Parts: sequence; C-alpha cells; structure tokens
Amino acid sequence: MSGLCPGCAHVRILESDKGSRFFLCELSKEDGRFSKYPPQPVLRCAGFEPASKGKGEG
Ligand code: SF4
Repeated sequence: MSGLCPGCAHVRILESDKGSRFFLCELSKEDGRFSKYPPQPVLRCAGFEPASKGKGEG
C-alpha cells in the first residue's frame, strides 16, 4: 500500500475478517478536515506526521 497513511502516527490500521485493510485517521475525531476513513492512497496530507520507528519517541 502506498501513500502516507500507512506510515503516519495518526493512523489506526483495521483489518476486516476478509483481510481488507482500512486506515482510520484518528485526527478525524478532533478535526473535521480529516475523514475517518480517508480514501486511499493519501498522497498529501496536512496532518501527516511520521510514525516514530525507534523507542523512546512519541
Ligand atoms: S493524518 Fe493524514 S496521513 Fe495521517 S492517517 Fe490521517 S489522513 Fe492519513
């Protein structure tokens, strides 16, 4: 999957029984500019923040 959501700190990845993946944008809870399930792939996003890869961050 390309796009920003898979690597974003604000995403929650949900998987259905059938193996489909949904990207739930947690920013949508606080900010109406973001959809709860943004159409993929998201190529540009004002809310994107890279998910931290190391320990002790975020
Ligand atoms: S903030 Fe943008 S990039 Fe991050 S999960 Fe939401 S829609 Fe995707």
